Amino acid sequence: MPDDVTAEPSKSSTTRRYARILVKLSGEALMGEGDYGIDPEVLRRIASEIVEVQARGTQVAVVIGGGNIFRGAGLARAGMDRVTADHMGMLATVMNALAMQDALEGLGTYARVMSALRINEVCEDYIRRRAIRHLEKGRVVIFGAGTGNPFFTTDTAASLRAIEIGADVLLKATKVNGIYDSDPVRNPAARRYKSLTFDQVLTDRLMVMDATSIVMCRDNNMPLRVFNLHNSGDLLRIVDGEDVGTVVSNG
Ligand code: UDP
Repeated sequence: MPDDVTAEPSKSSTTRRYARILVKLSGEALMGEGDYGIDPEVLRRIASEIVEVQARGTQVAVVIGGGNIFRGAGLARAGMDRVTADHMGMLATVMNALAMQDALEGLGTYARVMSALRINEVCEDYIRRRAIRHLEKGRVVIFGAGTGNPFFTTDTAASLRAIEIGADVLLKATKVNGIYDSDPVRNPAARRYKSLTFDQVLTDRLMVMDATSIVMCRDNNMPLRVFNLHNSGDLLRIVDGEDVGTVVSNG
């Protein structure tokens, strides 16, 4: 049974401050109230939260989606070849990654975009050991172009990169306070889970991330925490060890 949605986040005695996190932001998170593109104010607010986390000594990697610009599936529905459409979607994530890099640097934090597709004139290639080195040096690493393969999503890229770089947790930013037993936007009686197993997410089809990304986390024991990006300060609270949102693990 899910825990009551009104339950206050409590300080967990078992969670510790994370040393290295990977934050997954959807492209839509950057849109704000708009229906396309990037809202500079929203971008700056998210960047400043990342800077705060990083300033407290936690290494931060970011995966950004591209849904605010292009989604391959949508373009394919409109008649475009799916692989070309996915290439456009991946390039859209690189644009968002560059915008985030710019916002972070504007706040005085070093950041590096690393792309899964080679675009050397605009950013670095993704090389795992180099990514880890950047993190160790206190740079925020932003992974662009998803996995570099069509038919995948940036959620799967987030699971993959979190596992590859040995993140302590994958933090998935959403518009609601965690995972619910039904859509909280449509159903006011929806109740939030405080914790779940990956198998429960898959069996109950709680589609917080696509099944591929959930399976990757499950099989590689990568804990996932789903939180509300619109609750200013929640990211910091999570890194400080507070039990915010919904945690998904192998139980
Ligand atoms: N994409 C892809 N391979 C990947 C990651 C992303 O082809 O490994 C493409 C796909 O077309 C997708 C688009 O990039 O629709 C944007 O990513 P996503 O939909 O995951 O972004 P989000 O929903 O998080 O904004």
